[in-house]
Amino acid sequence: RAQTDPVLQLEKINVSFDGFRALTDLSLQIGVGELRCIIGPNGAGKTTLMDVITGKTRPDNGRVVYDQDTDLTTLSPPEIARVGIGRKFQKPTVFEALTVFENLEIALKTDKSVWACLRAKLNGEQQDRIDDVLKLLRLGGSRQRTAGLLSHGQKQFLEIGMLLVQEPHLLLLDEPAAGMTDAETEYTAELFRSLAGKHSLMVVEHDMGFVETIADHVTVLHQGQVLAEGSLRQVQANEQVIEVYLGR
Ligand code: ADP
Repeated sequence: RAQTDPVLQLEKINVSFDGFRALTDLSLQIGVGELRCIIGPNGAGKTTLMDVITGKTRPDNGRVVYDQDTDLTTLSPPEIARVGIGRKFQKPTVFEALTVFENLEIALKTDKSVWACLRAKLNGEQQDRIDDVLKLLRLGGSRQRTAGLLSHGQKQFLEIGMLLVQEPHLLLLDEPAAGMTDAETEYTAELFRSLAGKHSLMVVEHDMGFVETIADHVTVLHQGQVLAEGSLRQVQANEQVIEVYLGR
């Protein structure tokens, strides 16, 4: 399959809350294997956009086409997760009382209850998948550690790992580097660049330094619409973008 095929196409999406338009005729395409950053001021519609993709918010109209033939607006949030879309919210939400390994185990066996899941034995392939993710997220030394004792950055990595064991095609990440140390942010950038290609990533981010290190393609949202799209350099030179960010 060509690298340029879209993994996701949003077509003329409208979302309003009590008459307030959060997204207006929003159209957007993400290519297979692409690492896209979504930026824009507060209230621009970035969270609503993620909510529409994951089925948390139903658009008033428009289509969200995944992998060229699945209209996500007809699916429930769990069904959307199962087609291969993983989302990470800004705050890490891990099972604090369980070990790092158990957290990954539960994420991998999403179809079972927590306890049924911890009782069920992993097969060799699942074991390998968890080991690979532990190594990738640099959590190998912490596998038996209680997740609640991890640093904030390690919890963020663990949560990314919980998504990765499910082998999603498309990852949606909300400010993944928020609250991380410089070294952790640097590793997150390296990690995302290595995930792109195999996975498609959509990253909502405020930190322009981080955006600069990860994305070749940036979409600027403003008042529920796409204001500009292109390389970070291109959008930063765009007069309208400058106006929106500097309030001139
Ligand atoms: P961003 O993530 O870019 O900061 P949001 O998608 O959270 O923007 O919000 C876009 C706009 O929609 C904001 O003006 C916000 O107040 C409004 N909004 C978002 N969710 C709701 C809701 N559930 N009810 C009413 N207004 C909402």
